[in-house]
Amino acid sequence: MAAKSSILTQSGQVRRAIVVGGGLGGLMTVIKLCEAGVPVDLLSLVPVKRSHSVCAQGGINASVNVKGEGDSPYTHFYETVKGGDFLANQPPCKGMADAAPGIVFMLDRMGVPFNRTPEGNLDFRRFGGTLFHRTAFAGATTGQQLLYALDEQVRRYETLDVEDERGVTVPGEKMVRKFEFWDLAGLVLDDGGVCRGVVAQDLKNGEMRAFRGDAVCLATGGPGLVFGRSTNSIINTGAAAAIAYKQGAIYANGEFIQVHPTAIPAADKLRLISESVRGEGGRVWVPRDRNDRRHGRDIPESERYYFLEERYPRYRNLVPRDIASREIFRTVIHEGYSAEGEQAAYLDVTHLCKTAAGKSAVRKKLEGVLEIYEKFAGADPYENPMKIFPAVHYSMGGLWVDFEKGADGSLKPGSARNQATSIPGLYATGESDYQYHGANRLGANSLLSCIYGGMVTGPAMATWRESQSKSAFDLSSSLFETEHKRRVDEYAALGKRTGADFPVNPYQLHEKLGEMMLQKVTVERHNTELDGVLASLQDMKADWKKAAALDPGAKGTINQPTVFLRHLDGMLALAELITKGAREREECRGAHYKPALDPELHPDDPAAVGRDDARWLKTTLATFNGEGPTLSYEGVDVSLEPLARRDYGKVAAATKPAATTHPSDVAGATPSPNTPDGVS
Ligand SMILES: Cc1cc2nc3c(=O)[nH]c(=O)nc-3n(C[C@H](O)[C@H](O)[C@H](O)COP(=O)(O)OP(=O)(O)OC[C@H]3O[C@@H](n4cnc5c(N)ncnc54)[C@H](O)[C@@H]3O)c2cc1C
Repeated sequence: MAAKSSILTQSGQVRRAIVVGGGLGGLMTVIKLCEAGVPVDLLSLVPVKRSHSVCAQGGINASVNVKGEGDSPYTHFYETVKGGDFLANQPPCKGMADAAPGIVFMLDRMGVPFNRTPEGNLDFRRFGGTLFHRTAFAGATTGQQLLYALDEQVRRYETLDVEDERGVTVPGEKMVRKFEFWDLAGLVLDDGGVCRGVVAQDLKNGEMRAFRGDAVCLATGGPGLVFGRSTNSIINTGAAAAIAYKQGAIYANGEFIQVHPTAIPAADKLRLISESVRGEGGRVWVPRDRNDRRHGRDIPESERYYFLEERYPRYRNLVPRDIASREIFRTVIHEGYSAEGEQAAYLDVTHLCKTAAGKSAVRKKLEGVLEIYEKFAGADPYENPMKIFPAVHYSMGGLWVDFEKGADGSLKPGSARNQATSIPGLYATGESDYQYHGANRLGANSLLSCIYGGMVTGPAMATWRESQSKSAFDLSSSLFETEHKRRVDEYAALGKRTGADFPVNPYQLHEKLGEMMLQKVTVERHNTELDGVLASLQDMKADWKKAAALDPGAKGTINQPTVFLRHLDGMLALAELITKGAREREECRGAHYKPALDPELHPDDPAAVGRDDARWLKTTLATFNGEGPTLSYEGVDVSLEPLARRDYGKVAAATKPAATTHPSDVAGATPSPNTPDGVS
């Protein structure tokens, strides 16, 4: 227990760290802090077990190579940076890929019910951007199983007494104190700009409280709600990261928003149909005849256009997500194909379910996902091709975090720099940081980066905490009282927004924001439209100042619209940095795509900038200037793998696959890709 020497302050208070967020990233950070002997306050907007990680379906990547395909952690690392279009710093990615097999074995020992092969080995399925079976999974509820496993570990620490350096129990103090239904309202920064704690609000009764912390971590997930409709939970506003950004933390690569290729089209929430469906053999297609309005199941094989398979014969339906989404978008929106006349393509598993054995094998591996389709689309996916369309899903961007490179080119274990934001004492991990996925995340790499990030963040915070000559618990209470009052006053002022001076409905304002971002800042980006969005955002920020609390609520209760106003402020701030980052980045890279600059679309146009690594192999850094973002750029650490062409073997129709050059592109795995084992 490394931190025992400084468990108490001179005045006898327990020196705690703070973790905001109880998803996989936050829980792993808590576990590692406790292992290092650091007591933790864990705050979460929702009950920890309802954190958005619970929704993850498909799996978690680790190159365990049980199928003897020649996969390795190095190949996983390489494919991660290639999938991310070379924009990720390579040392953290290497650390993550190296740690992945150990992480899956650890989760297995914790009791995660991973699927197994008939021989009893862990089973692995295919996911996008690789030809290897690399994704461990627990049916179609992997995120839930992982979250519950880590939650159990944290609960153990909730019952464990804090002991001082002599091993004497500190009365009434447990290693973890959990605060569920608490919403971050602000960071407490001292005169030197060091983070010394947080102010948060209890959403059960409105109480605002200042928490002291000798290191603080935000593990608050992604900002999908900025786009209105997405595959994310409705609490994923990104407001906590926005609060940190507005208080001085740098936000990196905000423009890289992942649009997942396969979600159920809908007017409200967009429900994901996991990549695991394609990993198990699902095929994407549209009717070859653009005017074909027949039901998908009535269209014969010869009249189906399997456009991903034809265009990418090696990776077929499992090209990386940015590519798959763009191809679906292009095929449906620009080329005019449809599914029963609707703006959608088909994702089909019916060919796998023709026999009872095949159907049962599909059910065993995908039931959780397919029942979502049945429930929300009202059609049985075992019998009917599913109608899907791309949907906002994940943010590669997030709070900028540092790293220290170790001797092996990966991360230096325990360095206080790892996962540290630009605010000293403040750390970030999970989807709310930007570190591991560059310009495009590979499927099943997020659960991994959350857990690996937590494993790195906990020790980093413990080291930082040890290095501090003065504890937050020894500082004058006036700092905390001032910040507490600031947030109480802010909330009270928001709550007073009623009457004619506040004619704007915040929920309608959010709807307008989401619709605009969804239409103009997702799969395809055009500068003229981005300029329009930036102008509209100025109007919306002005409108936010006129947005009403709707119902001020009674004393001692919480008023949801007032809390929503706080989150909406954060969403507007993030929308602006996302759009500005997109406007400034004059290239196509990963999920950020401008048709005007696509050399494929403009082969003979010298004005098309195409790809300029010398200029754009850079991380976008957004700093809040009091009004909006100021952008600057930072080089990417490409010390381990030289840049290569991001080639997934696209071919023009009726030509052969292009030759590939990197060893990982030709290693072991057989091309034919998304035919599943045992369910042919
Ligand atoms: C439908 C779906 C399926 C997915 N499937 C996969 C998959 O199969 N494999 C994969 O690798 N990835 C998958 N992902 C992505 C992955 O699930 C997420 O990126 C990941 O779980 C995020 O974990 P996290 O710990 O960063 O945040 P979360 O799990 O989102 O947790 C965030 C935490 O922060 C708290 N919080 C948020 N805001 C505040 C605030 N203002 N104040 C206080 N607390 C706050 C919340 O209460 C919560 O506890 C999927 C995503 C979706 C949407």
